[in-house]
Amino acid sequence: MKSPITDYLKDVLEDTRQGDAGEVAAYIPELAQADPDRVAIAVATVDGVVYSAGDEDYRFTIQSMSKPFAYALAIRDNGLDHVLARIGVEPSGEAFNEISLESDTGRPKNPMINAGAIATHALVGGSVSQRDRNAEIMTMFSAFAGRDLEVDEAVFSSELDHGHRNLGLGHLMKSFGVIEDNPVDAVEGYIRQCALKVDVRDLAIMAATLANYGQHPVSGDRLLQPSTVRQVLSVMTSCGMYDAAGDWLTTVGIPAKSGVAGGIIGVLPGQVGIAVFSPRLDEHGNSVRGVKMMERLSRDLGMHIMDVFRPSRSALRNVSSRELPNGEQATVYEMQGDMIFATMESVLRHLDNNPLPDHLVVFDVTRVDEFHDVAKRMAAEAGARLMDEDGHRVVLIDPDKVIAGFETSHGAELESYAKIDQIPQTDKAVRN
Ligand code: GLU
Repeated sequence: MKSPITDYLKDVLEDTRQGDAGEVAAYIPELAQADPDRVAIAVATVDGVVYSAGDEDYRFTIQSMSKPFAYALAIRDNGLDHVLARIGVEPSGEAFNEISLESDTGRPKNPMINAGAIATHALVGGSVSQRDRNAEIMTMFSAFAGRDLEVDEAVFSSELDHGHRNLGLGHLMKSFGVIEDNPVDAVEGYIRQCALKVDVRDLAIMAATLANYGQHPVSGDRLLQPSTVRQVLSVMTSCGMYDAAGDWLTTVGIPAKSGVAGGIIGVLPGQVGIAVFSPRLDEHGNSVRGVKMMERLSRDLGMHIMDVFRPSRSALRNVSSRELPNGEQATVYEMQGDMIFATMESVLRHLDNNPLPDHLVVFDVTRVDEFHDVAKRMAAEAGARLMDEDGHRVVLIDPDKVIAGFETSHGAELESYAKIDQIPQTDKAVRN
């Protein structure tokens, strides 16, 4: 059976394609050249599978989506107390480039606005030269993405030529002692960090590293400590979407960070990393279509952080091909725990990757506690594909009726029994 997740992502792209509201960022002349109609989406699981659609290989600059990762490295290299003494964690409610410094200490409000991100950048690597700091950022961002990243030199020099405001912030923070090194070097390094080129698949994997509490989903390397990731995700939640952070938290509810090139990353802890891209921005500097796509994902996939069920890593307790009491051979999927997007995805992936040897397929949900709506919809689509496309007979074992009245997405009600030994032979089965 072919997994329906990529088809779903294509639908999300199509449904949000209409309209050309918003403007591409023009304060960096090179970004004004961006093709406004590019659009892409990717979702990466914490065990390293990436689903994507649209212009999935198109590369653009990471911009402010680099900020959470640089913040994580600053904490790794200096300890949290040292970082907190220089950069706060309070939402500023102001635009990304606001001169948002505490009046007495010069401490920037948080690491997600430019002032805080410049101070954060200057802490990466501890007391090292700017050259070594740039190299460390390159190495670590490449490790997060799982491939060697490059800087978009045209965007870098274009932003540098017009970076007076960021330079001003750098000088101010130097005067307060928030930045200890040369502020011009720090701002240049920060602009270089923002000019790293990525595609949505890179970003989804980077976000999934945060979702996986710092362990890379593909390489398995521990890149960050879980306590550091918790700090980063908390700040993304409260400050990640500039002056739209409160609106974002209540409507989308996914810790996120946007960038002015048009990308947005989202992190659902324990489940997935998400990345969307479309260059036209709203008045807050967030991608218009990107916000729509994230809203849709949050709603459809049950991903609002205040809404998520307890994820279980092993939704599949056992899969076997065996002879049933009725004498018939069947493939039996025994599932357990709460069925949410992440757990159902692992079931769909198993179905996608493993040919089903038997005509009869049994899903035993006796040990499933709850079926979230999104998991029911995913199961309904799987049922339709297995029965109507692949010609299987599909049976549920559901003694507690956790998915009572379940229908496939083509409207067929499934045979459902309380026990496996009640399953009649295929030729005696009644299909509604
Ligand atoms: N390089 C950009 C700046 O500092 C990043 C801004 C953003 O993506 O929000 O202005």
